[in-house]
Amino acid sequence: MDYINEKTPPIREDRLGACMAFGGSCCELSRQSKKGCLFQNNRTFSQSQGCQLTLSLAILNTIRDAVIVVHSPIGCGAGLVAQAGFCKGFQKLRDPNAFGLRWINTNLDEIDVINGGEEKLRSAIIYADSEYRPSAIIVMNSCVPALIGDDIDTIIEDLQKQTRARIVPVHCEGFKTKIQATAYDAVYHGILRHLVGAELYEEEDPVLPDEFEELKEKYIISRTVNVLNVSSMSRSDEQELVNLLKALELNVRVLPCYAHPDDFADSYEAALNVSICATHDDYFSEHMKTKYGVPFILKTIPIGIANTSKWLLDIARFFGMEERAEKLIAAEVEELNAALKPYREFLKGKTAFLAGGEIRVITTAELLHSLGMEVLGLRGFHFDRYGEALLDQLIDEIPESERAIINIGTGQPFEQANLLEKLKPDIYIGHPGGNGWANKQGIPVFPLFGQAFNYMGFLGVYEVARRLTRTLKNTSYSRNIVKHARLPYRRDWYSQDPFSYIDQSVAP
Ligand code: SF4
Repeated sequence: MDYINEKTPPIREDRLGACMAFGGSCCELSRQSKKGCLFQNNRTFSQSQGCQLTLSLAILNTIRDAVIVVHSPIGCGAGLVAQAGFCKGFQKLRDPNAFGLRWINTNLDEIDVINGGEEKLRSAIIYADSEYRPSAIIVMNSCVPALIGDDIDTIIEDLQKQTRARIVPVHCEGFKTKIQATAYDAVYHGILRHLVGAELYEEEDPVLPDEFEELKEKYIISRTVNVLNVSSMSRSDEQELVNLLKALELNVRVLPCYAHPDDFADSYEAALNVSICATHDDYFSEHMKTKYGVPFILKTIPIGIANTSKWLLDIARFFGMEERAEKLIAAEVEELNAALKPYREFLKGKTAFLAGGEIRVITTAELLHSLGMEVLGLRGFHFDRYGEALLDQLIDEIPESERAIINIGTGQPFEQANLLEKLKPDIYIGHPGGNGWANKQGIPVFPLFGQAFNYMGFLGVYEVARRLTRTLKNTSYSRNIVKHARLPYRRDWYSQDPFSYIDQSVAP
């Protein structure tokens, strides 16, 4: 893969043939995916749509010592207001001196649509550099400047000669794609072009080479892994994974979320890139391999016992430490199984519906199954070859999963409401932004992720089991709220096929 010389990355519809509309069984989705036609599925009605600028911000607003310039009308990125508090708190967990979230909006209006917004962008960047003296200024390009033709790359190239901060353009215009995960490529494209690589930084005074120091550095690099985190991970998730890798005596660097811009400069000097989620990281990992020769591991997300074990074994195998990792896993799993006993007794036979990123929901399905639960349905934002590999693995290991219903779509809560009415799961495990809908149907909810909780690694299995048990032991909130709130759909919608508005006719 090599798009790095382009100003903008391709969209996922083109790069991966990603699918954004499907309804049927897991078995059918896997079958259709192998035929390669899923990307042609469409909707005859779409309730709402995700914007890649918003998702890009979820990663970029975590970067320490940066200023975000949102080049747009005032509404784009307005959700940052709600994120300022936790961004500051979680940045400080990594560095007590971190500033937290700082952002500027260029506030484009009707006059700028006629005259162009370039002057506003220019003055916003100069202001950000002189007022805050950050290490990086991240410029988010939105729909309006893209449509009126503001040349943000030329402005940035020009201003880079005058500013102390590194300026990173991110082309994340919402109208370009229906696959919101294109945001990850937009973010990594900007990072790869403007933060990674020694050639971007002024050379320090040459130091006379010390043979011993050089050998020591080479040794450290040969044991260094970049763990590519996601913004939905908690600090305790990170610590659990770092602890597991440190038990194998590996040196761990965690990128990109909550990293400092300088952390990217020599990130290509690592023995291995390790992904937490292929949906998130394939663009970065592939380019680091193409440009710098850094190999990568991208197969699964370390959620649940089976996937955490596979994740760890893959890394250990790369460093020739498989036997050592097997012993570590055996010891962890033995302790975990003893601790899970009372929770397994309570959770056995309980049913669940999962919604969120497809990689995360498929691996969480395996976790729930290992606790004795049954997954009735899943809902992923989109689907591509990385989802297919994990879905096949789930069906292989848990054959009854092939009957579970799966719905692919971003921003279609009416389809989900219909499905939940039919499936009536004991619990809904979903993206925190969408849990309210299920709650209004009287279904207890459990967040699929949360920056304050632990979900990953072996510790994550225990925490999910403990918190799920607590949620299911007292369901009075969901039982009461349904008496006072309702969703806005007519009753007759619930008697129809939930996938009535998905056009799958192109896939025979
Ligand atoms: S879709 Fe375009 S206009 Fe809407 S929030 Fe996203 S970038 Fe802004």
